[in-house]
Order: sequence, then C-alpha cells, then structure tokens
Amino acid sequence: MNNKQKNKIKLNVEIPDIAYWKRQISCQHACPVHTDARGYVRAIADGNYDTGYRIARGPNPLASICGRICQAPCEDSCRRAAIDSPVSIRALKRFVTERFGAEANKKNPAAVIESVRMISSSNASKDEVAILRKAQSDGLLIAAGDKRIAIIGGGPAGLACAHDLALFGFKPVIFEMEHRPAGMLYTGIPAFRLPRDIIEAEINVLVDLGVEIQCNTTVGEHILFDQIKNEFDAIVIAVGAKNSKGLGIPGEDAIGVHGGVEFLRRCSLGHDPGLGEHIVVVGGGFTALDCSRSSLRFGASDVVTVLYRRTRDEMPVTQQEIDEAHEEGVDFQYLVAPLSIEKDTEGHVVGIKLQQNRLGPPDASGRRRPEPIPGSEFVQPCDTVIRAIGQDSDMAFINPARDGLAFNDWGLVDCDEETLSTKVPGIYMAGDAAYGTQLVIDAVASGKLAAQSVYQYLTGKQVLITTRQSHIDLSDHTREIGFEKIPRTALPVADSKIRVADHSVTVELGYDEVLAKKEASRCFDCGINTIFDGTKCILCSGCVDVCPTNCLKLVSLTDLNLTDEQINKAKECLGDQHDHGSAIIKDEEACIRCALCSKWCPTGTITMERMEFSEEWS
Ligand SMILES: Cc1cc2nc3c(=O)[nH]c(=O)nc-3n(C[C@H](O)[C@H](O)[C@H](O)COP(=O)(O)OP(=O)(O)OC[C@H]3O[C@@H](n4cnc5c(N)ncnc54)[C@H](O)[C@@H]3O)c2cc1C
Repeated sequence: MNNKQKNKIKLNVEIPDIAYWKRQISCQHACPVHTDARGYVRAIADGNYDTGYRIARGPNPLASICGRICQAPCEDSCRRAAIDSPVSIRALKRFVTERFGAEANKKNPAAVIESVRMISSSNASKDEVAILRKAQSDGLLIAAGDKRIAIIGGGPAGLACAHDLALFGFKPVIFEMEHRPAGMLYTGIPAFRLPRDIIEAEINVLVDLGVEIQCNTTVGEHILFDQIKNEFDAIVIAVGAKNSKGLGIPGEDAIGVHGGVEFLRRCSLGHDPGLGEHIVVVGGGFTALDCSRSSLRFGASDVVTVLYRRTRDEMPVTQQEIDEAHEEGVDFQYLVAPLSIEKDTEGHVVGIKLQQNRLGPPDASGRRRPEPIPGSEFVQPCDTVIRAIGQDSDMAFINPARDGLAFNDWGLVDCDEETLSTKVPGIYMAGDAAYGTQLVIDAVASGKLAAQSVYQYLTGKQVLITTRQSHIDLSDHTREIGFEKIPRTALPVADSKIRVADHSVTVELGYDEVLAKKEASRCFDCGINTIFDGTKCILCSGCVDVCPTNCLKLVSLTDLNLTDEQINKAKECLGDQHDHGSAIIKDEEACIRCALCSKWCPTGTITMERMEFSEEWS
C-alpha cells in the first residue's frame, strides 16, 4: 500500500434500518404530533384531496387552525430546502382543510368527526379510530360520565386534551377565564392571520364530541383550585403563559409602555389598544411581529419599528411573515438592545435609549451571542413601547404548601416530561404552562399526551403506542416531469394597503387547485426509498452515471470505515471475500427519488419502495 492509499480518508456509512427510514421522512419526524405531511402533500399532488384531509386531520384536532398559523417544523426540516426552498406544507394543509375541515362543515361539525372516524383504510383515521376502539373495548363509552376530568385553560393544549379524552369516552370540563376559548389563538394571534370563524368551527367539533366549556370562569377567582380538586377525579393544568415579560430596564413604568400579549388581547376583544403615534416594539418573535402589524392596523401611525437584539437570521419567524410585515410598512432595526425608557415630567414615554450590539461567539442555543458595543448608545424618540420578549405563566391559584405541587426555577409546576404528571397523583400539566412558550403544534402534542396519561391514571390501563410501518412496492414509480426545477409557489396575499386599512382582511389567501397541485408536486416524497438487491448487481455503474444529483457512488468496501457490526453484515453476504467486495453508497440528502436509477438498471437490482409509518394506540 503506498502512502496515498494509506492516508486516504475512509467514509463513514450507515446501513439502513427502520429508524433510518423513519428519519428520512423528515417532515413527519419533525412534527410534534407526527403528521404524515409527505402523505397529504402527495395526496394533493395526485388530486386525492379528501384523503389528504384525513391524513392531515388524523393526529391533529386543530388541523384547520394549523393550516393557517402553524410555524411548520415540518417545513424547517423539509429536504427540498437543500435544493431551493422547502415545500409550502402549511399552505397545502390549509388547501385540504378549507375543502373538508371544520370550516367547510360549519353547519354540521359532527360531519368532520364522522369523516375522520369512518375511514379505516387511510393513515388519517388511524389515531382516532384506535382511540375509539380502545375506548369501546374498555367499556368507557358506556361508562362515560363516571369519572370527572377538569381542564384548566381552553387554549390549544386544553382543547387537544379535551378532544382526545372525549374520544376515550369521557366528558371533560374546560374552565376558561376568557369569554371565548382558544387561548392565544383568540387573544394573541390576530384575526388577519387566523380568522375567528375557523377557530369557532374547530371548537364546535369538540363541543359536538361532548366537551363542556365553561367560559368566564377564572380558576382561583370564580372557582377555587381546591374545589376542583375535591370535585374532579383528574385535573389537567393548561393555563399557558399570558403575562408579558418585563424588559428589566429603568423607566418601564412610564405611560405608553405596553405588554405585547396584553396589547394584542385588547385588539382582539375590540378594546381601545391605547397606542400613540411613534411606536417601537421590542422583540423578534411572532409576538413582536403580531404587535407591530397590529399597531399599523389599530394605531395612529403608519410607521412602526421592531427593535431586535440579534440579526434577521436569528429571528424565530418565517420569511413569509417578515416579508408581509415589510410590505405593510414595519421597519426593522437589528442588533440593538434597550437600556432605558425615557419619560417626560408627566411620566409619558418620549424615547427609548438603545445600545448597538455586534455578534459574538455562539451561545447555548447555537446562535451568535449579541454583545454591546461600548459608546454606541443613542435615544430613539417614540411615545409607545411594546414589550414582546416572551411571557410568563400565572399560576397564582396554586398554593404549593396546600396543594402539594412544586414549582421549578422557571416558575412552572414541576412535571415529568414523559407523562406530564406532577407530584400529586391525578394532576397533570400541558402546553406552555408545562414547558414554557413554544408553538401551537407543541401545545397540541402535549395536550394529547396529557389525555393519554389521564386515561391511564383513571382506568389503570396502559395506552401502548406502537409504530406501524408498511413497505409498498412501487414498480412503476414515475414523477412529474421537471418536478425538481419547480420553484416554491408564492402564497397569494391580499393587497398590503387594503389589508392594513381593514384589520379584518385575512392576509394570506391560500392556494387554488392549480397552485396547490403544482406546489405539492415539488415534494421529494422522502418516504420512497431505493432498495438495492446486491445479488443482482453487475457493477456496471449505470445507476451512478444516470443519477441527476450524483447521489450514488460505487465504492470498494475497503474505502469504507465500517463498524464491527457492519463488517459482520458484509461477512454474512460475502463470506471470506468480504474485504474485496463493492458497495453502492447513497447520499440521502441529495436523492430526489426520481427513480431514474431504478428505470435504467439492466438487471432489476434497484427497486423503488414507499415506507409509511404511523403511530397506533392499543
Ligand atoms: C402573539 C402570539 C402569536 C403566536 N403565533 C404563533 C404562530 O403563528 N404559530 C404557532 O405555532 N404558535 C404561535 N404562538 C404560540 C402559541 O400561541 C402558544 O404556544 C399556544 O397558544 C400555547 O397553548 P396553551 O394551550 O399552552 O396556552 P394558551 O394558548 O395561552 O391557552 C391558555 C388558556 O388558559 C386560560 N387561562 C389562564 N389562566 C386561567 C385561569 N386561572 N383560569 C381559567 N383559564 C385560565 C387562558 O385564558 C387561555 O385561554 C403565538 C403566541 C403569541 C403570544
């Protein structure tokens, strides 16, 4: 062996197994409720819209709402992003929910449930059908009403929890302090992003399932926690995080300083938002964007400035939201930190003192830490400051000594991550109140988890979640011509002047059928895999040559850095010759599942197969 060969860097490889195939469907893997996004996107591309709806709705009781405002972790992990931009998965969900979801069945909410229940042949219904079957076999549907469950808070977490408990046969009661349920969906997220009739339609489905919602009922005021503990067999605390955090700087008590979620709540309820003319919003997340865009609609000014301490790249919002805000007239100032709020002799805000930041080394979150630049202070004149840097939970109705519950360092009730159970048997946490502020879809996932835990607690029976997988042979797999070159289809939006002038105008208009099919056809369909039968391969290298993305390579086994387990596998196939063999290796990130390799292969070594997985309760 010469020096060149000795120094050659060997490749690490992974031999596919089930966990590997599951990971390939990165959109489904990333979704907290494991929605088979690939499945409904593909169904839309094929024109099977009702199937698409059922797949989207199966694991997600708030699918219609999510079709409008989900932050779409599925899109963040979509592999299409490596080529151009992720598939517009959220907008495609909206496309099917608009046709078959709660909003399409407003007069008959039960139809939504029925449509999901009746289908047992598609992925969509598996979750719900399994829950129902389990409830029936446990006799719970008949025994409904025997066990009383209270859910404190009617936000996405409480609603999702109530939905699944109702499917189990219980009749949970939600206590909600506002005059309408839905939490931040209703009091935080503005109607121009999430029309209120969508929320109502989706909540009507829950009511139809037997969920009781007691509005205008603040726990700790209209009903005491102690009373709930005495009257109910299990409690889920899902009170969210409804108090804006303070900036912790001098002058914060000035007249004209508002909490972000408090301001948005006033806008949502039609109250006077109390804005001045020169508005600055401090923060960089969706609350900051919603505050700035609402200020343009509800305030006197046509210029609103968002002040963010990091850069655009670190903002945890979508590009679409930033573009929409820009179009409407929101101005962004990056790398600035507030030092103090300046006020006049009567206590009114007259400006905000800022300091310029520069980017330092990465912090624990992996984002580059903003560092203040000494001597860069300046005062920006303004008469309104909106704080949008996060929220805290208010659980004053809990008395740790009396109730036996413990609070952690973040001011949240301590609970087990796996079960959401607290120290007190029968009391569970869910949503933002359990883990701090996250996304609607995280709240839905945790509400569903809390429902399972309550079920187990009250019945003594386990809910076993098993991953069901299927491998479907796709011998004649073909793709739309040129699918890999289609750019992301822009989402049509209302004219910016019209939407700012009228706050009830919905900004995003959604795809029509032509656009939806075009966008859906961009999906790489990552559930499809190339299966290689080594016994048929003649090492002609044709698959390597024909691959448009160069994702295949024919290599000698000696080029690979194999683990002991992998060497044993090679021995199993090749016996003593194992170190003289060859292997086809594949770069999954580059593969676009076009099937050209399979079509070209003269010996039928490569076949295409679709792997699907779903989680079933039993
Ligand atoms: C302005 C804003 C915009 C957002 N935009 C998005 C977005 O676009 N996409 C996304 O995925 N996520 C978004 N989020 C995050 C998302 O809204 C939350 O993560 C989610 O609502 C949390 O759900 P939850 O049920 O835990 O809490 P909440 O939604 O806060 O619901 C809690 C409920 O409990 C009630 N409650 C509180 N205390 C009591 C009490 N003592 N008695 C009775 N009821 C009580 C509240 O009134 C509320 O209805 C946004 C958040 C904000 C603030």
